[in-house]
Order: sequence, then C-alpha cells, then structure tokens
Amino acid sequence: MRVPVIAGNWKMNKNNDETKKFIQEFEKLMGETEVEVVICPTFTSLASAAQMLSNSSVKLGAQNMSWEDEGAFTGEVSAEMLLDLGVDFVILGHSERRQIFNEKDEIINKKVVKALEKGLRPILCVGETLEEREDKKAFEIVKDQLIKGFDNVSKNEASKVIVAYEPVWAIGTGKTASPEDANEMASFVRSILKELFTEAISEEIIIQYGGSVKPANVEEIMNQADIDGALVGGASLKPKDFIEIVNF
Ligand code: PEP
Repeated sequence: MRVPVIAGNWKMNKNNDETKKFIQEFEKLMGETEVEVVICPTFTSLASAAQMLSNSSVKLGAQNMSWEDEGAFTGEVSAEMLLDLGVDFVILGHSERRQIFNEKDEIINKKVVKALEKGLRPILCVGETLEEREDKKAFEIVKDQLIKGFDNVSKNEASKVIVAYEPVWAIGTGKTASPEDANEMASFVRSILKELFTEAISEEIIIQYGGSVKPANVEEIMNQADIDGALVGGASLKPKDFIEIVNF
C-alpha cells in the first residue's frame, strides 16, 4: 500500500515570520490525515519551521542540496546540514533548477545518490516542456530523465525516491494536465521503474503529479490509479488552500 505524499514547494517565498504564521494556522486546521504531508520552505526558514514542527506529523523538505559533503562550495548547503535541522525530504531536479540554473541530469543524479546515502528522501522531478509535448517527445524525455536520475541507485534504495511528474507547461501557469494524461504519464513512469528495478519495487515507488494542483482539481488527480500524491507550488502558500488539498 502506497501512502500518498502531498508536498508543498514554497519556492522563494515566505520569510521566518511568514513561515511561522503559516505553520500556526495550518496546524490548527490539520486533523487526522492518511496522507504524508511535507512542506518545503526556503533554506532560511527551515530552522524555525523545524522547531515548530517538532511534535507534528508534518514533515520538512528542502528545495535543493549539494552533492558534496563539505568544503569550498560557496552558496551550497549539504545533506548533513539539512539532516541536522530535522529535514527528511529534498526536492531535486525541479524544472526551475533545470531551466533557470541549468542543472543537468548528471548533477541531479549526483544529488539523488548523495541524498539517499545520507538518509534523505529525494523528490526527483521530471517532466517535459510544452514544445517537447507538442513534438510528441514527452515520454522519451521523461524516460531519459528517469534513467539518468536513477543511475547508481540500488534496488534497496530505489523505493525511497519519490518521483514527481511535473509537466513544465503546467507549473505556475494555472494549466493542469488532464487527470487522464497525468495518469498516463505516471503509469509510464512506473513501467520504466519496473524496467530499471523490479515490478515489486516499481509498485512501491510514490509518483506525484505537480503542475497547478489546487483545491478544485486535487481530488480528480488523486483518484488516478498511478498517482500517489502531489507536489504543490502556488496553492501550498495559503494554509486554507493547502489543507483543502491535503484533505482532498
Ligand atoms: C511546483 O513548484 O512544483 C509546482 C507544481 O508549482 P504550481 O503548483 O504553482 O504549478
């Protein structure tokens, strides 16, 4: 049984005060839930978020990390530093990192491998651009990102990785993939994971959909057979919206 994982990616939003206010409000609204809830604030808000969530079932994620352990890597944050704060998850290969910061699959893969080595759960983002979809290359692109992203990941570790299928054209645009198209790609992702590992492992791996998920569309998306969660950007910034998503 895959336990759904719903993660909020706050991107470069919310300072410490805003983070604390969100958590206060969100915790008041949150009751019993069968899904795993993760929030991913900025690096600078992780420590205060961790303090506030120390007795909560809500888990913390970071939005990026270095593949190196320590040393002369100005501006970088290591896996150990995240663990030290109580972080459990880390988003890797988000399309904004790929497109704006030019992160390549090889770098993303080094981060995935390092996160697993250190005991963090990577949320590995994959997804095609609009042009690639229109050129009918979406499946080829996602397959390539998966093969490269899972390179050197052992069978023992594979099921700790969460795959977030995020069509780039649906991120922050208000456009959502139809639930059927999203599920078609999620099933395809699972079939590739079966080829890379085993059927049993592919059945254990959580596959999220991301791209303009909101209270109004989350239920339909979550009802799809191969979709086990959501990576939520904009709609995770407001406690009321995010709780509605979590309680789909
Ligand atoms: C994201 O940042 O991963 C995302 C899916 O953003 P949004 O929900 O705003 O489209």
